[in-house]
Amino acid sequence: MKESKLKASFTLHGLPVSSGIAIGSAYLVSQATLEVSHLLIPPRMVEKEVARFEAALAGIYKEFDALKASIGQSTTDISAFVDLHLMILADPELSEVPKQIIRERRCNAEWAIVQQMDMLVEQFEKIDDIYLRERSYDVRQVVERVVRELAGHPGGRLSKGVKGENLIVVAHDLSPADVMAFRQHNFSSFITDVGGATSHTAILARGMGIPAVLGLHNARQLIRDKETLIVDGTHGVVIVNPDPRVLEEYQLKKSQFEIDRSKLRLLKTARATTLDKVKIELLANIEGPHEVPLALENGAEGIGLLRTEFIFLSRSEMPGEDEQFEAYRKVVKGMEGWPVTIRTFDLGNDKNLPADQAEVRKRSNPALGLRSIRLSLAEPKAFQAQLRAILRASKYGKIKLLIPMLSHAHQVDLTLAALEQAKASLRSERVLFDENIEVGGMIEVPAAALAIGLFLRRLNFLSIGTNDLIQYTLAIDRSDEQVSNLYDPLHPAVLMLLAHVISSAEKANIPVSMCGELAGDPQLTRLLLGMVLRQFSMFPAQIPEVKQKIKQSNISELLPAVRRIIRLEESAKIQEHLERLNA
Ligand code: PEP
Ligand code: MG
Repeated sequence: MKESKLKASFTLHGLPVSSGIAIGSAYLVSQATLEVSHLLIPPRMVEKEVARFEAALAGIYKEFDALKASIGQSTTDISAFVDLHLMILADPELSEVPKQIIRERRCNAEWAIVQQMDMLVEQFEKIDDIYLRERSYDVRQVVERVVRELAGHPGGRLSKGVKGENLIVVAHDLSPADVMAFRQHNFSSFITDVGGATSHTAILARGMGIPAVLGLHNARQLIRDKETLIVDGTHGVVIVNPDPRVLEEYQLKKSQFEIDRSKLRLLKTARATTLDKVKIELLANIEGPHEVPLALENGAEGIGLLRTEFIFLSRSEMPGEDEQFEAYRKVVKGMEGWPVTIRTFDLGNDKNLPADQAEVRKRSNPALGLRSIRLSLAEPKAFQAQLRAILRASKYGKIKLLIPMLSHAHQVDLTLAALEQAKASLRSERVLFDENIEVGGMIEVPAAALAIGLFLRRLNFLSIGTNDLIQYTLAIDRSDEQVSNLYDPLHPAVLMLLAHVISSAEKANIPVSMCGELAGDPQLTRLLLGMVLRQFSMFPAQIPEVKQKIKQSNISELLPAVRRIIRLEESAKIQEHLERLNA
């Protein structure tokens, strides 16, 4: 902190994606770890270079061991991932051959291992077997780790003296899989140059309850390692090298924020009932079993959205049926009788297993491509494994099945047929499950919102995914910060679609919830109540604030006001009326 006095202080502005304040040191995440320097080692230094390489490997073994011990048996996906990387690292191709290269060609250790990696990756890529071909990705990851270790910047090694809680990750870009990997280190915040407010990276930050600012454009270039940073995730501000007065001011704000949040948590057991006694259901969006306690602590009355793809994002291959079953069972048992809505995999756009990421990026428009339910239906074997796993878990509590990204009625018909097939196979094996499992669909494509009758006729419930619905209605890439100013939840077209879906569902007597980010924005709670929405699902930390807003609202007064709002055509006017609604 003392050092910061000598350095120029400056402020960066980006998108506020996850509220709260973090104060800590910058931890720069390199983009091009594998671009190493090529040095010729003098003959007398060769053995020293070999020893440096061996020490780096020893460091990583130790780190992996510590990681394995800390995760125990519970997180099978991470532990399988660690085992695979340990095996790759121990293979003589990576642990011995680079030493020969150092000795024979007098290369520096980084260059030696990267040369060996290039050779191995080339061999892997010629193999027909897709599983083996995909291992080349793991080899690259392991080598990146060795290179970071050699550079004295190990990245994952925070247990030795470096505390993640004081570190703020600064990156050009982070994929959802990167964020999942960072989760283990308890970083206090992260900031990136790119990414939109409803990108999955942002959603993960909110789920983890850590402040984050995205879309800062050139933070990665301007900020240096270990510089002191203040991240104000509520306002999208990052202050680099703050002076002591500013630092003190933000320390106070940080404590105040934490006090406010814990006061709100006192609402945990209060019912979400409006002043005129209408009961509202508040549910949680979670990314895996590890977030169940968070959902319960914040008073969730169930899980409105389990984003199943996130559970397995940090691993190199698709999970099998048993592994999925264990994860879903853990969630449903953890929720102590509250219902759990499990969404089938929503992969193929920005959320991908690392091995698929490069392939998906090659597509010209993955958001409109083979993603989500389209991908599941195209891979019947994998889909059966997921459906069977969900059905098996339904024996342990109330589970509802949710289909993402519907656009066509036949997608529901095909999913229901696949579900029937999964049920029949389980019956023949005498495996018990909930025969009457409810099936719902996500309304997140404008076509589905407009032709809502097709889905109301076929499904037991609906869930509105506003993140994608807004993206597709306004033709705004939700991950692209360059158009984030156009991502407007109050656009009249968006409000018309929302009102249409909610009122049609109400007329048809089909329950409808909202699980997009709008549902967790307390500024929009009254608007949604006035549209007759009665189920809201959001990241757990947002529940208390939305509950407070509900408890201060009177639906009978909201109905006529909201009817007027949804007839307005100017966003500015809508905003004005909304402010009055919230006054
Ligand atoms: C949505 O699109 O609103 C949604 C909830 O799904 P996801 O954010 O996972 O795409
Ligand atoms: Mg979506």
